[in-house]
Amino acid sequence: MKERKRIYLCLAHMSDEGMEQKYVKEAFDTNWVVPLGPNVDGFEKALEEFIGENKRIVALASGTAAVHLALVECGVEAGDEVIVQSFTFCASSHPITYLGATPVFVDSEPDTWNMDPDLLEKAIVDRIAKTGRKPKAIVPVALYGMPYDCDRIMEIANRYEIPVIEDAAEGFGSKYKGQMLGTFGHLGILSFNGNKMITTSGGGAMITNSDEQWREIMMYATQYRESYPYYQHEKIGFNYRMSNICAGIGRGQMTIADKHLAHHRHAQALYEELLKDVEGIHVHTQPTCGKYDSNFWLTAITIDPELRVKGEDKAYSKAVTGAVGGAAGVVHIAKPITTECQPNRNVEAMRIWLDKALIEARPVWKPMHKQPIYQNAPAYTNGVSEAIFKIGMCLPTGPCVTDDDVRYIVDCIKEAIEC
Ligand SMILES: *Cc1c(COP(=O)(O)O)cnc(C)c1O
Repeated sequence: MKERKRIYLCLAHMSDEGMEQKYVKEAFDTNWVVPLGPNVDGFEKALEEFIGENKRIVALASGTAAVHLALVECGVEAGDEVIVQSFTFCASSHPITYLGATPVFVDSEPDTWNMDPDLLEKAIVDRIAKTGRKPKAIVPVALYGMPYDCDRIMEIANRYEIPVIEDAAEGFGSKYKGQMLGTFGHLGILSFNGNKMITTSGGGAMITNSDEQWREIMMYATQYRESYPYYQHEKIGFNYRMSNICAGIGRGQMTIADKHLAHHRHAQALYEELLKDVEGIHVHTQPTCGKYDSNFWLTAITIDPELRVKGEDKAYSKAVTGAVGGAAGVVHIAKPITTECQPNRNVEAMRIWLDKALIEARPVWKPMHKQPIYQNAPAYTNGVSEAIFKIGMCLPTGPCVTDDDVRYIVDCIKEAIEC
């Protein structure tokens, strides 16, 4: 019998022609081993063509750096407030704290799992009443690639004249009414980390709306050096530009971006089909109104609380080290094994069952308003993200996941269910 290889959520996957290595080799051959150069220019150009809408792109060292610079460009300073989707990865909100500002968390709507427009407006009105000032920016997030309600969020943001920073780190290539995510707001951000839709190993980008914005972001990304024959600084800048080596990988990846997108959508469709009759398991799908076109970066499922999964009694019996908890094998030994807000036991049992079958599955992201570090941050909640966190799970969808893998994963899920 052939030995099974471990199936990961979304592993980096290179072009068959080795385009990434060709561009990286070119960088070495021409000695462009710096955070600028022909690959950075070429990658940005390819991104501009892909994103469309006449946007200008700045390639950056990470998606987190892009969020940070977007906030700086919006004038966020110490003491300000920024509204951000609570149901997200920490890179949407952490940069707000880098600036000494306060995140104001807004909960999700049940269908997209993204920022609830009604709660967004409630939060804006209440913050103005409580602080006498408007929040400085609004950060919606394309969770697992799913578009947010662009029409309503942009309408509310425009009415209150608050800039929108679209966190499309997980939503590369997702569209709303045929338009790419990241092109609706004041600024958009992308991530090219190793597990995202395309990768530069680590990297990110800013989608800007004008040459003026583009120039300002470029200045901030390169230590804000004024045009003199010597270093002259009139603002505090950052060293956030993408390396020409990483950009070489990105240029290669752009040749297969459409292939990756098609693959993720195909894997999602297969999961939807194979899991449709499995009682107690539900695939997170996009709204059917025709406006939403998710990239389905990760397929997410929910598990009914009543569903009995094998090994539930032993769930949460030992500390976890791995890609999520205790990254790099470093753990705080004295910490308790459980927290007061965690996935249900059947979800954890399913994760362990799949892990033993060499399948990487993960709980959905824990909402930021439930994170200890943000316990004092204002939050406008409706219970949606917390409820989904208790029943949700992400399944492998990356370009290395074959149809056969998806069938195997679904079979393992069915096996794990106690009849
Ligand atoms: C990955 C990610 C980012 C940015 O991440 P980097 O790893 O710094 O590139 C930002 N927001 C969300 C929602 C993400 O998933």
